[in-house]
Amino acid sequence: MSSRYSYNDDAPKQEICRACTDFKKWTKQQTTRNPNRKTSLDTGINQETTKECPLDREELGHSTWGFLHTMAAYYPQKPTATEQKEMNQFINIFSKFYPCKECADDFKVDISQNPPETGSQKELSKWMCDRHNDVNRKLGKKLFDCSKVDERWRYGWKDGSCD
Ligand code: FAD
Repeated sequence: MSSRYSYNDDAPKQEICRACTDFKKWTKQQTTRNPNRKTSLDTGINQETTKECPLDREELGHSTWGFLHTMAAYYPQKPTATEQKEMNQFINIFSKFYPCKECADDFKVDISQNPPETGSQKELSKWMCDRHNDVNRKLGKKLFDCSKVDERWRYGWKDGSCD
């Protein structure tokens, strides 16, 4: 029987899939193993070592959305038929391999109900924003104003704060 936290069935039984769990839960499990271990919950950095650690669900999600929105922001204004097809394929393949299984499963359902809109940069950026808002809604987070998606992910805020 594989671990409930293990995404990979071949992984050792004890291994925790950090990418599938939130940091507090993961830290609690680590503390159960070694009560002396200090983590970023205490200090913002891992006190045992300054080495970088595998991503948990929050970190992975934050980085991944950054990539997905930036990719959409730089998608062609007038993509070729091939580019549209390949972006569609990319998103579908991404949904199969995203390392947080629960996230990937829900995302697959979401994109089957709301297929990628790859007709232009504007369309794709709006579509990605809507998908992110679907996750935000599920998690009880504030929804993002999708009319500002290009300011956030390509040009910087109109008030000049990113200049
Ligand atoms: P994030 O939600 O990661 O957002 C990063 C930044 O994007 C924000 O600071 C904001 O500036 C901007 N932003 C926010 N909303 C939008 C938007 N709609 N459009 C454009 N920009 C926006 N976590 C779970 O716990 N359960 C899940 O099922 C789950 N599913 C996920 C599915 C996918 C495909 C991905 C990529 C991530 C998923 N996550 C899930 C992770 C989750 O969405 C967050 O990334 C994570 O909780 C960290 O949140 P955060 O507060 O750092 O901000």
